[in-house]
Amino acid sequence: MTRHAGSGYVGRFAPSPTGPLHAGSLVAALASWLDARAHGGRWLVRIEDVDRPRCVAGASERILSQLADLGLVPDAPPVHQSTRETLYQAALDRLVASGQAYACGCSRKDIEQAWQASGQARARHGELIYPGTCRSGLQGRPARAWRLRTALAGVVHWNDRRGGPQQQDVEREVGDFVLRRADGLWAYQLAVVVDDADQGITDVVRGEDLADNTARQVLLQAALGLPTPRYLHTPLVLGANGEKLSKQNGAAPLATAQPLACLQAAGAVLGLQVTAHSASDWLAQAVRAWRGNGGLAPRWGEVRGPTTIGA
Ligand code: GLU
Repeated sequence: MTRHAGSGYVGRFAPSPTGPLHAGSLVAALASWLDARAHGGRWLVRIEDVDRPRCVAGASERILSQLADLGLVPDAPPVHQSTRETLYQAALDRLVASGQAYACGCSRKDIEQAWQASGQARARHGELIYPGTCRSGLQGRPARAWRLRTALAGVVHWNDRRGGPQQQDVEREVGDFVLRRADGLWAYQLAVVVDDADQGITDVVRGEDLADNTARQVLLQAALGLPTPRYLHTPLVLGANGEKLSKQNGAAPLATAQPLACLQAAGAVLGLQVTAHSASDWLAQAVRAWRGNGGLAPRWGEVRGPTTIGA
């Protein structure tokens, strides 16, 4: 467990090492750094490399050196999720022992057939919602994945510091979601909840595209008896095709040899108008602006939706 210092605030930036930082991922990194500094807190970096097939060799080193070029240096050595599997296993064991998680023997095909047999189907983001087939046991089939039992959880309420009160009926809208995948890999939801709690994270600041995961994470925190951090989701930067900027849609790696320009562009997405002659001066002024604007957040009302680049 990482110790808290000073204000008790602990923030984090948690990139997946699937490629270098780009203009979109820097916005989340910068916002989490600024929020930590404005609160007199600590800022950690966690490399989320549980989904090994998606990881790119050398990407985590590249991300860390890009952050360092910009003056965004974590207060402790970065943690890699790939070294923390025993923690995830212990959490899953606890959930299974308390009946809150269960083994699932269904393939994708089984899930399709179960919905066909019931004459209806519920889907989300193009994926069928799990129909709950294995909730009462595997019926002699081998276990493939492990799922969280969402029945009876009710509607999950949480607050976004920018977007205000949020809610999601996880059972109806998402279903019993996967904690450990059929290929043996740990699911993002379990790893992130275990790590945020283990690292004492008080404030999660990350991109808007991740907001939809928050209700699941709040549910898992409750199931494991872990605290819920505060959440702030930052505006997205969209690529020319109108989708979230990503390596897949041609986001260029950040040119961190020009740190001031990178910081100014990311700061503009966050509604920060700061004039400075150097990156370190820009950061110092941006912390003051972040702290001064309506109590430790920018005037979010003035931050209008996503920013599009490359159009
Ligand atoms: N690793 C996730 C990503 O890069 C971020 C997870 C998080 O901040 O909760 O999209």
